[in-house]
Amino acid sequence: MSDMRITVWNEYLHELESELVGRNYPEGIHGTLKRQFEEDLGAEVRTATLREPGHGLGGDVLDTTDVLFWWGHKAHGEVDDAVVERVHRAVLAGMGLVVLHSGHMSKIFRRVLGTHGTLKWREADEKERLWNLQPAHPMMDGIPEYITLEQEEMYGERFDIPTPDELLMLSWFQGGEVFRSVCTWRRGHGTVAYIRPGHEAYRTYENPDIRRLLANAARHVRRRVSRDDSTCTNPAALEAVPNPTKEHVG
Ligand code: ZN
Repeated sequence: MSDMRITVWNEYLHELESELVGRNYPEGIHGTLKRQFEEDLGAEVRTATLREPGHGLGGDVLDTTDVLFWWGHKAHGEVDDAVVERVHRAVLAGMGLVVLHSGHMSKIFRRVLGTHGTLKWREADEKERLWNLQPAHPMMDGIPEYITLEQEEMYGERFDIPTPDELLMLSWFQGGEVFRSVCTWRRGHGTVAYIRPGHEAYRTYENPDIRRLLANAARHVRRRVSRDDSTCTNPAALEAVPNPTKEHVG
């Protein structure tokens, strides 16, 4: 058992409402990812879903989470703003956040990045090829030069995100578009990653390379510190200064 504590948040609506998606992920996407992280990382994994009280993220869940994965699609608007605020603060305090696939329009993704998260999309059972741009990066450990997914939903540029701190994979789609598929950003003491594949109509998370990529991401973005820097401090000087009791003006 590693000491990594992962929480997988899933909207968990498509699996219940669609026979196809329910067949793809009988445990729910969250259940599949939980099992994989337990097997691949020996991590302590909890799950949380939209319809649970507080979306399953109440109490000390965020404080005791090293990496939060986020899969949402059709009900972004139902996510309570107060929960988004708490997740944002947790990231700034050091929690890792991995936003998956259609989470590009989630409140938390747009909040931490400050942009719309919009993109082009098409459902046409087309091929996706993800190119590994940084083979020496820890998140690319064991990832081949490219990953081919025979059928995926297309996401195309322009993806409305801030220029990533690290751009790790670039997707090509059969229909001609390209997309920045695996990106990271530093936010406060936390690291945010976005990983594109994972449309619910396909069993993409069973792909061994995608599975490895998600485990690598957890290792890379995991919490290193827990530190609340939400207020400014006014310390006494370490050495003699000219006016140590000077009154603040204005
Ligand atoms: Zn999708």
